[in-house]
Amino acid sequence: MYYVDTHAHLFLKEFENDLEKVISDSISAKVKKIILPNVDVSTIEKMLKVAKNYSENCFALLGLHPTSVKEHFNKDLEIIENLLKNEQIFGIGEIGLDLYWDKTHFSQQLIALETQLSWAKTLNLPVSIHIRNAWDETLQFLTKFNRNNLRGVFHAFSGTLEQAKKVIDWNFKIGIGGVVTFPNAKLTKIVENLDINNIVLETDCPYLTPVPKKGLRNEPQFIPYIAKKIAEIKHISEQEVAEITTKNAENLFNIF
Ligand SMILES: [Zn+2]
Repeated sequence: MYYVDTHAHLFLKEFENDLEKVISDSISAKVKKIILPNVDVSTIEKMLKVAKNYSENCFALLGLHPTSVKEHFNKDLEIIENLLKNEQIFGIGEIGLDLYWDKTHFSQQLIALETQLSWAKTLNLPVSIHIRNAWDETLQFLTKFNRNNLRGVFHAFSGTLEQAKKVIDWNFKIGIGGVVTFPNAKLTKIVENLDINNIVLETDCPYLTPVPKKGLRNEPQFIPYIAKKIAEIKHISEQEVAEITTKNAENLFNIF
């Protein structure tokens, strides 16, 4: 029995001094596989290096995060598209729509999302999708988009139960992280009503640290706290949560 962390930014500066220990602590906690979603063009080199140095455990995605979509996004997408041909990549991410921080480049965010979803379809790769304050816009977009052959995960899920059910119908998984351990999380109700076969675990480290480690830097080794909470909500064993969410993640990202 082991876990997969489907969303970890181990290549950010928060980890540059002790990455080796972070990964060995993760393995000791039975979190054996870790997906690394890219952020922007400046993070690619470090991310690929981490994926190469820890190729047994770390699996890289390539993509342009919606909050990094600015005036020069076309150039950034071109750089990423070229790398897709030469690097070992397990998916496209993280990509999506974000109207929380800045609405200025929303039309560019839509173009970047469409372009990157098309790559995923062409290359038959899964996508890791980030949505913040843009659920209606995303579903509207995906309703019209040709989703044939598209699969992926809505990471750090923040929508409603109805929205979760809709994207599950569209062949997506729901990424559940530390937020589920927060008191009164509305996510509790959603997790309660979702089939465990549609859930994958994630930390989004270094952010969103689960209770009881809140206040500390988040790390993949904290995945079992998230699994424990899901087990409580769904009245199943932690073992079952681990086995099923691991199978879900391995099938989605094709990591065996
Ligand atoms: Zn992220």
